[in-house]
Amino acid sequence: MTRTTHRSILDETRLPSGRLEALAGRIDAAGGETIAVRAPATDEPIGRIPACTEADVDAAVERAREAQAAWAETPIERRAAILRRFGDLVLARREELLDLLQVETGKSRRHAVEEVLDVPLTSSYYADVGPETLAEGQRRGAIPLATDARVAYDPVGVVGIISPWNYPLTLAITDAVPALLAGNAVVLKPDEKTPFVALALADLLYEAGLPRDVFRIVTGEGPVVGPALIDRVDYVAFTGSTETGRTVAERAGRNLIDCSLELGGKNPLVVLGDADVETAARGAVQGAFTNAGQLCLAAERIYVVRSQYEAFLDAFVGATRDLSLGTGFDYGPDVGSLIDGDQLDRVEAHVEDAVERGASVLTGGRARPDVGPFCYEPTVLTDVDPDSPVAREETFGPVVSVSPVATAEAAIEAANDTEYGLNASVWAGDRERGREVARRIEAGTVCVNDAYTAGWAAVDAPMGGVGDSGLGRRHGPEGLLRYVDARTLATSRVGPLDAPPGVPTRWFVRGLSALTRLQRRLGGAFR
Ligand code: NAD
Repeated sequence: MTRTTHRSILDETRLPSGRLEALAGRIDAAGGETIAVRAPATDEPIGRIPACTEADVDAAVERAREAQAAWAETPIERRAAILRRFGDLVLARREELLDLLQVETGKSRRHAVEEVLDVPLTSSYYADVGPETLAEGQRRGAIPLATDARVAYDPVGVVGIISPWNYPLTLAITDAVPALLAGNAVVLKPDEKTPFVALALADLLYEAGLPRDVFRIVTGEGPVVGPALIDRVDYVAFTGSTETGRTVAERAGRNLIDCSLELGGKNPLVVLGDADVETAARGAVQGAFTNAGQLCLAAERIYVVRSQYEAFLDAFVGATRDLSLGTGFDYGPDVGSLIDGDQLDRVEAHVEDAVERGASVLTGGRARPDVGPFCYEPTVLTDVDPDSPVAREETFGPVVSVSPVATAEAAIEAANDTEYGLNASVWAGDRERGREVARRIEAGTVCVNDAYTAGWAAVDAPMGGVGDSGLGRRHGPEGLLRYVDARTLATSRVGPLDAPPGVPTRWFVRGLSALTRLQRRLGGAFR
């Protein structure tokens, strides 16, 4: 698409004029400082957002804290109904959300859709399972029949969410929905590059019936707003780079609050000897180039058992060459822009370094300023030095290396040769064999015969990383239970569990031993 310089990119969307200014106006900020937000597709300014100060964060958390008590008292079925309605509204307004997402991220519309569909999926999942997961439950008591124990789940209070720019809609809300359902208030700090879609989501939450102060947004520079938020909330859910994640964990640790850290990856994709190479190649294209590779779950290293290497490479390179690059607001382009010049520099540096060390570029390998200032061609490398940055560090761009391996065993070893452990993918004709290999890959999620969607979209199953990829889990009951304090209520039907008056201690100890034996024999028969 050719763009004329005098037209704003916003004119290509269906966003009503003044929409971004109105969204930015929702932020309460006392100072006048603002930050420019730019559209990656053209690198033009599209709006400004407040650069919140520590005092603004303080005020936002205070309002959230005041509203939280009443929200926690609201019956959970009503909280669930609001979140279900929110999911319906996201679906109903998807065209506007897609436009906003594309404007602020530069991603292709087909990749933006994944985000828009993810939100209703997550909302209805937690609305469905949340009430039962959080219901007060009975546990095994200390002495059968004489005592019981119940566990209740109380919201932690105010949850701080710090989210990145690559999936600004999904990652802002995936962690907010279970926090809200559990009765917490949320203060969200979206990435300063992509604040508008989060603000639009807040509008939809309010329209669905959420009290305004239960979900607040603060915008501004990460190193200013992030620490201020961590110092004031009761839990922090962070998604972003491993480097920042470490500082978040340190600060949360100092404040003695819990946190979840969804961090980076250097995800492997393994093609076994019996895999269908055409299918595996299609999956690898999706795995490596979705969102121009700016996906924490993206495959950046591919290992192919040697007997399949040439055939896979042919199919994969062919399918990669067929991808179209573009920044239009229709479903035409397969792959969109990178987020900014820094990300483009990183991608170029990784590829240039790989080539200097002897790698071959089978397709791609160059920026495409004719398409967009930060566009880069989907790139396939071979003969990559295993110690080079492109082999070891997260590139976070449309670049993947392919290496032959002698056996499945060698593929597992290569896949595990990383400090990260977020996502992996195994392609196999025999699915059980695929799962056997998958079990031995050290990653929070491993998908068999799929790149990442089967794992991510299984919202009932936990998602997160091991090693440098993070701590804690989102999705599933685990993603909800991180936001509550589990409390035990234990009741005795026989008074204090101590020797009754007049009973000699020796007899009491004998009786207690007999009870312990009974307890061990009966196991969980009595609660
Ligand atoms: P980043 O760490 O630079 O920024 C993430 C968020 O942290 C932003 O909102 C930023 O403003 C904020 N921030 C920056 N400095 C901070 C500080 N000192 N204290 C608190 N918050 C601060 O990450 P990024 O480069 O924007 O995002 C890309 C990274 O995120 C990649 O490494 C990617 O793999 C990772 N990621 C992980 C997941 C996952 O689920 N594991 C998902 C998406 C992205």
